[in-house]
Amino acid sequence: MATENQTDPTALVQQPRVNLLGMSRKNMEVYLSSIGEKPFRAQQILKWIHHSGIDNFDEMTNLGKPLRAKLQELAEIRPPNVVKQLDSIDGTRKWAVEVGGNNLVETVLIPDGQRGTLCVSSQVGCSLDCSFCATGKQGFMRDLTASEIIGQVWLAIKSYDGFNNGNKRIVTNVVMMGMGEPLLNFDNVVEAMSLMLDDFGYGLSKRRVTLSTSGVVPMLDKLGDVSTVSLAISLHAPNDELRSQLVPINKKYPIAELLAASKRYIAKQEDTHRVVTIEYTLIAGVNDGVEHAKELAEVLRDLPCKVNLIPFNPFSLSNYKRPSNNAVNRFWLVMTEAGYVTTVRTPRGDDIDAACGQLAGQVQDRTKRSERHRQKAELAQPIRLV
Ligand code: SF4
Repeated sequence: MATENQTDPTALVQQPRVNLLGMSRKNMEVYLSSIGEKPFRAQQILKWIHHSGIDNFDEMTNLGKPLRAKLQELAEIRPPNVVKQLDSIDGTRKWAVEVGGNNLVETVLIPDGQRGTLCVSSQVGCSLDCSFCATGKQGFMRDLTASEIIGQVWLAIKSYDGFNNGNKRIVTNVVMMGMGEPLLNFDNVVEAMSLMLDDFGYGLSKRRVTLSTSGVVPMLDKLGDVSTVSLAISLHAPNDELRSQLVPINKKYPIAELLAASKRYIAKQEDTHRVVTIEYTLIAGVNDGVEHAKELAEVLRDLPCKVNLIPFNPFSLSNYKRPSNNAVNRFWLVMTEAGYVTTVRTPRGDDIDAACGQLAGQVQDRTKRSERHRQKAELAQPIRLV
């Protein structure tokens, strides 16, 4: 029987320390107040973390010793753990980042002249199962925390020694386009993006931070209320019948609703010249015909947008094929002649499996979807007679 004098066993369990890496300025000010400190210290701490790459409170020399000791006890700055780094001959660098439970997510830096675009993941796996996507085949495990999201920016800069040599500009652009659907991890993604934009964080302009969504319409409306980042829509098809096959969430939020929400998003932005980027993965014989291009040009007619064509990058669990150069050129020509600024994404990092989800490839799938896809792919293999 318990007595009053017995030690409460829960009191012996140490409280987990708060990870400050993913805390926005606003939340850090609240946190500091809650531990009896002045909110303005947040600016100093943020600069140490995101301008200088410091992950140890002892090195924050403009904080008094008592504050440093208090933070040491209550908080931490813990970036995610890189387990693998691959460098492509074309300069693309890719990291596999371990986020607990043997789960990996991917981060990719694509350098291009003065520009360095970092593709950041938002979830471990993805629940939406788009049929052309390696991540979608893995099922879904969990949302990343804000620290794990902004930590990808931090570790990319760190890996080039960018904090020490004053070359934070290694990352000039961020696209939330890696593993996961960012709008399904709304709060953590918004928190991390606010650090990307904050001058005490990475100070990137809103035009250089892009969120790409497959079309979670209600959350897109919510995003417009709190964020100013650029928007990309993963469209991939010009009509609902085809899009529902490629991007199943289309059954819930069809194209017309998605494009209307995209228009509302840019209407909420202060600057009037914002455009949406339409991402369109071209898959041989599926959505890459001239008739698809003409239909797409028509569907996008009322939306201020530019179009990014992405030739499909084949992977083992998919039977889709990369389109021919001719098909890509024909599609590009139709869109360009229809008046759209249209780019074709050059394949990068082919030698390091840079297509999203190919390197991580082993999410501890809660949904068992990865197993089902593997079985389906095996059944689709021709039987070999011996
Ligand atoms: S394309 Fe994006 S939303 Fe679709 S399954 Fe892949 S990660 Fe998820």
